[in-house]
Amino acid sequence: MSSARETANEGATIERVMNSFQNPDEKNSDGKVNPTQDNSLRPQDFTSFPGQTRVVENLKVYVSAARGRKQAMDHVILHGPPGLGKTTLAKIIANELHVPFVQTSAPAIEKTGDLAGILAGLEPHSVLFIDEIHRLNIAIEEVLYSAMEDFCVDLTIGQGPSARTAKMNLSPFTLIGATTRLAKLSAPLISRFGIQEHMDFYETDALTLILSRSADILGIELLPEGAEELAKRSRGTPRIANRLLKRIRDYADFDGIKIVDLKLIHRVLERLNIDELGLDHMDRAILEMIQERYNGGPVGIEALAATIGEDKATLEDIYEPFLVHQNLVMRGPRGREVTALAVNHLKKTKSEP
Ligand code: ADP
Repeated sequence: MSSARETANEGATIERVMNSFQNPDEKNSDGKVNPTQDNSLRPQDFTSFPGQTRVVENLKVYVSAARGRKQAMDHVILHGPPGLGKTTLAKIIANELHVPFVQTSAPAIEKTGDLAGILAGLEPHSVLFIDEIHRLNIAIEEVLYSAMEDFCVDLTIGQGPSARTAKMNLSPFTLIGATTRLAKLSAPLISRFGIQEHMDFYETDALTLILSRSADILGIELLPEGAEELAKRSRGTPRIANRLLKRIRDYADFDGIKIVDLKLIHRVLERLNIDELGLDHMDRAILEMIQERYNGGPVGIEALAATIGEDKATLEDIYEPFLVHQNLVMRGPRGREVTALAVNHLKKTKSEP
């Protein structure tokens, strides 16, 4: 079990790395959403949210049923790699339920009183979204148990021998928790989420739609073959797709180019050091390290993190899921191994000028 300080450091490192993956306008270094950000790319309802079909179809049913019964919807946990739309879907759920949306993140809730204050302020049937819910400390988590199950919290008033507890009733609400690490959530907390949905990397088709929609909103003339190529290079992640699109817009504006075609896309991606599989410098460094230093593996995640000089949690949360998804890395009980596909890819990218 890691200490609170280790967990906090781990979280800070992941946020730093995520900032390099995401549009810097999106979140501040403390992980909070920047109020001045361009939110226009965020879909506002289910119909403008491409991809994640199974998850969306399930959520539509639960939203419609809750609206029909005029009750708060059951609590939801959305888990999966960063940048796939967990926050966006949480907002969409609130929009579709026509209820207020209140957003916070676990690192921002420092004391049980902070959480009690948020809960007490919720209007009936509101959605409360807690990002990075795996980072809640245990005392705060325990307050959530009764809040989620019975819509009440036990508060301790006063200190020492004269301290007493008082029950505070809450309005019924829907908690939506988002996490990149379901395994880090305690069993009692997981069991209180009636709806548990996993989000996986997007297929190229869905990302192509997302990019075409974003290009329209941003006023970029993106050719269909350009949208598809960019989709293939976006690590299956809408946040990265939108970020790359914005960088391409910068180059197009700088060079006075009106139409974004394959030529421009290839030139910009090369400048950004992103290869044909969408891998960046760090992804390739990981593959090369396993292949060259550890003879293809297996190598333990701690040893790999130490040799690469990256945080273990960052490797596990941000880099590894995509490499495993692309069948470039295999995860076994003895550690990580590169696949034949990865070895071929490394050979190919190395032999290219
Ligand atoms: P997460 O909470 O999973 O880290 P977000 O919901 O913050 O991800 O999404 C990251 C960015 O990607 C947002 O700017 C959002 O607009 C965009 N995005 C995510 N999913 C989609 C989607 N299905 N369609 C369009 N844009 C999306």
